[in-house]
Amino acid sequence: MEAVPDTPDDAIALALAGNRRFVEGQSTVYHQDMDLLHAQTADHQHPFVAILACADSRVPVGLVLDEHIGRVFVTRIAGNTASTEVIASLEYAVAILGVKAIIVMGHTNCGAIKAAIRNDEVPGQISALFAGILPAISLAGGDDADPGEVTRQHVLNQVGVLTHASTVIDSRVKDGSLKVVPALYDVASGVVALLPERAPRAG
Ligand SMILES: [Zn+2]
Repeated sequence: MEAVPDTPDDAIALALAGNRRFVEGQSTVYHQDMDLLHAQTADHQHPFVAILACADSRVPVGLVLDEHIGRVFVTRIAGNTASTEVIASLEYAVAILGVKAIIVMGHTNCGAIKAAIRNDEVPGQISALFAGILPAISLAGGDDADPGEVTRQHVLNQVGVLTHASTVIDSRVKDGSLKVVPALYDVASGVVALLPERAPRAG
């Protein structure tokens, strides 16, 4: 039976332990998933962690955390921005499904971040993705900002947005039943690393 973490810290540690198995070529989930699909997850889900990640094809979240069907609640959007719909989805994961941690997972070499920095003319509605990234670009130095630094600032900003924009998330962070943490996925090494958190704002 799969592990059920008791605390937010346990949930984060469990997710990162799966990433270590993935990086070391010791993934375990493949053989279990079809059995789980038939036996356990058709009618219900019990994810222990939620992830806000980029839509980038190199960020297959369940795979890189070596977690199987029903264990990881994933919202993905190019640029991993906490839009209104993303916040609503994560609130569902927290309030209804009871996840104990939300990991905001930016990644290296993110095309959405680079495009937002360039701010070129783009077709259709693609530029809608840029607005949420602009505060991080400002924090990282404006038009000449390093994409890696923008990515880091953007992840930290989204951790702040999730707590400030959501009473559901904020109340559980305050009572200690939920943690929201920033992380970076390295598309070259496969490693998910937690980022140092920003000090909370006064008030
Ligand atoms: Zn990306």
